[in-house]
Amino acid sequence: MTRLLLLGGTAEARALADRLVAAGVDVTTSLAGRVADPRLPVGAVRIGGFGGIDGLRAALADYDAVVDATHPFATTMSANAAAACAATGRPLLRLERTGWAERAGPSWHWADSHDQAGQIAARLGRRPVLTIGRQQLAAYLPALAEAAVLARVVEAPSITLPRNWTVIRDRGPYALPGELALLRDHRADVVVTKDSGGEYTWPKMVAAGELGLPVVIVRRPARPAGVTTVYDVEQALAWVLTGD
Ligand code: NAP
Repeated sequence: MTRLLLLGGTAEARALADRLVAAGVDVTTSLAGRVADPRLPVGAVRIGGFGGIDGLRAALADYDAVVDATHPFATTMSANAAAACAATGRPLLRLERTGWAERAGPSWHWADSHDQAGQIAARLGRRPVLTIGRQQLAAYLPALAEAAVLARVVEAPSITLPRNWTVIRDRGPYALPGELALLRDHRADVVVTKDSGGEYTWPKMVAAGELGLPVVIVRRPARPAGVTTVYDVEQALAWVLTGD
């Protein structure tokens, strides 16, 4: 029986774990341990880093195959999975939700980095709402230190932020009425996001469109080359069960 390592931390990974457990697959979901109170998938769970490529290579002795269902911006984990699987001969599948590029609105401004996104946001408004996670907030300080920023994060930031910044802690999925209220209450004039894709955080984009606000969106980073990739849970399930 295949012992599967599922690199998780996403809604897709939880959905896949659900399907795999129902199908009787021996699956272990791996979480980074960033969130104090994570949403746990069904099935076995391990928490914490592996210790780089070498640590992951060693850990793969206990698994026959790997599905990398981490977030599109979790580039280090994906690169490590590609390298460790190549070195050990373990089959690797990438499960990645599609991005939002095809839904792009007329007021979207694409950025290649968080630094650039901060600069664009500073040109567009004085009251930005940042929904880019906590780990990248420091990249916005140079351009937005004087702005009335509202930053929405899951876990409290570890850096000191300017007094004119407000941090709210919340976790998706989000619904349109709440997103409209958030943007109106802050009197937001620009929204900054990553191209995370999927439906969980899409309502803020609809809300920004309804309020006529510009959106600054950070492009996805490059992926490791040569990894078989699917875009939904059913395709990933088929790969695990049949190898297709
Ligand atoms: P990252 O920068 O790619 O990874 C940094 C290190 O964290 C990795 O080298 C690895 O440590 C550890 N790590 C990451 N994902 C792991 C996993 N699923 N299981 C075990 N160790 C993991 O990752 P990140 O962007 O900080 O994201 C961390 C986790 O949060 C991921 O699982 C991701 O799916 C989830 N997440 C990320 C975002 C985002 O925007 N980046 C958004 C939502 C959820 P070692 O080198 O020690 O193995």
